Amino acid sequence: MIVMKFGGTSVGSKERFEQVYGLIERARASAPPLVVVSAMSGVTNALIEAANLAVRRDLDGALAQIDMVRNKHIDAVKGLLSKEKADALLLDLNEHLSELESVLRGINYLGELSKRSIDAVSSVGELLSSRVLAEYATARGMKVQWLDARKLVITDDTFGKANPLWEIIDEKAKDIARLSKDGFTVITQGFIGSTESGVTTTLGRGGSDYSASILGVAAGATCIEIWTDVDGMMTADPRIVKNALPIAEVSFQEAAELAYFGAKVLHPLTIKPAVEKNIPVKVLNTMRPESEGTLIQGQPTQNVTTGGKVRNVCAIASKKNITALFISSPRMLMAHGFLAKVFSVFDRHKTPIDLIATSEVSISLTIDNTDGLEAIKEDLKELGDLLVTHDTAIVTVVGRQFRERSGIAGEVFSALKDVNILVISGGASDINLSFLVMSKDADRAVQQLHDYFFAD
Ligand code: ASP
Ligand code: MG
Repeated sequence: MIVMKFGGTSVGSKERFEQVYGLIERARASAPPLVVVSAMSGVTNALIEAANLAVRRDLDGALAQIDMVRNKHIDAVKGLLSKEKADALLLDLNEHLSELESVLRGINYLGELSKRSIDAVSSVGELLSSRVLAEYATARGMKVQWLDARKLVITDDTFGKANPLWEIIDEKAKDIARLSKDGFTVITQGFIGSTESGVTTTLGRGGSDYSASILGVAAGATCIEIWTDVDGMMTADPRIVKNALPIAEVSFQEAAELAYFGAKVLHPLTIKPAVEKNIPVKVLNTMRPESEGTLIQGQPTQNVTTGGKVRNVCAIASKKNITALFISSPRMLMAHGFLAKVFSVFDRHKTPIDLIATSEVSISLTIDNTDGLEAIKEDLKELGDLLVTHDTAIVTVVGRQFRERSGIAGEVFSALKDVNILVISGGASDINLSFLVMSKDADRAVQQLHDYFFAD
């Protein structure tokens, strides 16, 4: 059995539901899959907005959001089901919506919005979208079992970002494998779960991928397919590099590197359970199911294939709005403990450091989160001279076995024209080489490197 997870845009309209149905139907030729769905696109945001309006004493505004959500589903359902079946389904959806309305009235009345209430409100989107898909698939003649994920994904009570209680989930997931054997396509919700005592929780924004991974591991799936609206992970951000290519295969580590640099396709931590159990994860495009997609695996393979070619670089990524700090302290020459002192400043102010380069008496590093910057500056001034530069960008080349391929740095820097490099950092990991430039140069650097490594 495989897991097929469909994101918000994949169930964003009547046409998308039809496409999703076709994909499930095709997968059933091997075995009925476990289907995990997100809320229709925009719905989770609307629900959270409703909760915020309610607590700000704007009940009408909150209820208007709910109407919008209702209409979005009505529109989809109308084109999918006969009048009779649509009416029956809408009664069902309205039950969820009127419960939601009660919760919003409660929030409004009390003027209090806890994480627990936000979970109660934001969980409704997945319940609605999964009902629509299940009813539609049934009407088309598919053998379907809709399951409430709150009875499967049991979590602790960290509302807003709940953690799975694996042992219980493993037990509950046995039903899923059994149903699939009996020929049922199981349809359930991503994102939502519940505590042992039955209080609704969520796994955090974008948590449906995590659900797919949790349920896939617990139900013993052979593959987890993440169906989204892009062709998979790309060799560069397609908004920057027009001729970016989909990456056929990446390791989990590479996927993690890319995610830090904003490859928003999926957050690799959410698929970590699957990767740890050696279950392959595929990112696929609902709108273009014939495209190959990206395969993410625990073990890196020897080579990267992109556009049908074997390469040692898998992607060029960048991250802007980075702040660089340059600390130098001649009096630290031959003394020890300088780095430790510098790092402890960042630790004290809870600021992660991203990129580092050091010499005997100086250190350059970058931070992304500047909340603690003023305090950090004060403390660092005691250690040496300090220069802070805003508006820099990290450019990273992600690839394979860079340490063995000594020429990579040379290739990278010879590919760059008219780009001033502020800091270079490489070697910490075998799979990335990063350097710092001014933000204004970042796109150009990415394009030049992409041209060099991926031009045919
Ligand atoms: N619907 C949820 C969200 O928008 C979960 C998800 O889509 O993964 O965050
Ligand atoms: Mg999503």
